[in-house]
Amino acid sequence: MNTTQARNDGPPAIALQDIIAHAKEYGFVFPSSEIYDGLQAVYDYGQNGVELKNNLKTLWWKAMTQLHDNVVGIDAAIFMHPLTWKASGHVDSFNDPMIDNRDSKKRYRADQLIELKAEDYEKAGDPDRGQALRNELGRLQSADDMEGLRNLIIAEGIKDPVSGTANWTEVRQFNLMFSTQVGSVAEDASLIYLRPETAQGIFVNFLNVQKTGRMKVPFGIAQIGKAFRNEIVARQFTFRMREFEQMEMQFFVRPGTEMEWYERWRDTRMKFHQALGLPAEKLKFHIHEKLAHYANAAVDIEYEFPFGFREMEGIHSRTDFDLKSHQELSKKKQQYFDNDIDEATGKPYGNYIPYVVETSVGADRLFLATFCNAFTKETVGEGDQQKERTYLKLHPALAPVKAAVFPLVRKDGLPEKAEAIVKSLRSEFRVIYEERDAIGKRYTRQDLIGTPFCIAVDYQTLEDDTVTIRYRDTTEQIRIPISELKARIGHEVSMERILEQL
Ligand code: ATP
Repeated sequence: MNTTQARNDGPPAIALQDIIAHAKEYGFVFPSSEIYDGLQAVYDYGQNGVELKNNLKTLWWKAMTQLHDNVVGIDAAIFMHPLTWKASGHVDSFNDPMIDNRDSKKRYRADQLIELKAEDYEKAGDPDRGQALRNELGRLQSADDMEGLRNLIIAEGIKDPVSGTANWTEVRQFNLMFSTQVGSVAEDASLIYLRPETAQGIFVNFLNVQKTGRMKVPFGIAQIGKAFRNEIVARQFTFRMREFEQMEMQFFVRPGTEMEWYERWRDTRMKFHQALGLPAEKLKFHIHEKLAHYANAAVDIEYEFPFGFREMEGIHSRTDFDLKSHQELSKKKQQYFDNDIDEATGKPYGNYIPYVVETSVGADRLFLATFCNAFTKETVGEGDQQKERTYLKLHPALAPVKAAVFPLVRKDGLPEKAEAIVKSLRSEFRVIYEERDAIGKRYTRQDLIGTPFCIAVDYQTLEDDTVTIRYRDTTEQIRIPISELKARIGHEVSMERILEQL
């Protein structure tokens, strides 16, 4: 199967199908409940995937809470009082416009069909027409004009890619929240939602944390947790899932200072992605021109996935919208007393509802970006010896396994020596023992899961307590004393090396 296409300028493009296949074959991501043919847009992380994802989450957590004295974490419940979602606006307006094709019976997001058409104009060298179409889409969405969206789809001659027809239904709004019942008796049960974002768990705990932590504005609250959205069109692997994980931080600031903090967090977050090893040219800012009702500025950090530049993280200046709505609906004051002196009046700033700058990144999208970026196919060797080598070029701090230890043969005391090395390293980092197959095959297996170091124990080891250590990216092997392994590998795989850049 030829799934990679040559580009004129640089390495071959990676196809999403290659990524999905590799992720499954090497224990990173499996389709959910696969024995029943899977559940659309739901995925499970396997033995290597969970390690990589946990490393990303730990790095985010440390970058947010450990590197900033004024950011603390919480872990709020997934279920929340239903009024939370009324206050946040999700009950009334967390909708996407959907449209069905009567021939293929497929469902689409009307806005995405129009976006794709605009992209087609741009690709065909007519950016003005593309922009005009986007402007019209924005206007119709702001006006909640579903009939207008349908008319635009018809006028643009947009056809269903499956049936090839324009036999479209009406456009309808579809709420993306999942609901369920809470309560043991049917009559007493009440409708609750699976949270569609983690942010609201932070807002409703704003005063709890501020008071018990004696926090002074500006300060932030960070959280990692599951969120659920009944996405209409859920494709593109872990990019758009119905159950996913968010890493969000709400930063509470004095009104009037939000733009300064917005710019600071925007730049801090971009630096984070680059420190993880995502190349600057594959990352870009996308400033929102059309703002959500609660925002006064918003920008996405986009990554160039195999299907193009797409949102990975959103940084939003959310004003006092959420806290104010919670105050109104709960009738509980959400104010903060600021006793710093306002130079303009010579008096304390006093009581106010803080403004909020939010940073929100999907753990699964960051995982996918990291995985795609690490997936490397290279041709090595000369002449008839040429062959293709596939490996995951993960930052050593992110790799699921940091080192694998191999005895050259399964006899003469080499396995025991190798096992002793594993034992001496495993309290520091994740290290595995591997003795099956020829040593070349063992190296290949570790390359495929991104293990940065392989340690081989041979007969010389028994004589002088040295081993060879092989570097994944260069395949270079050097001989070093066993006593140096811990310091050498420990330094390379430490998260500190990433955090120090921030
Ligand atoms: P999109 O426009 O792609 O649907 P969004 O603007 O609705 O995303 P936000 O509400 O800003 O996304 O959510 C913050 C982050 O949560 C996103 O940047 C993304 O990384 C992640 N995210 C949102 N929806 C999903 C999803 N269905 N699957 C995986 N991650 C998601």
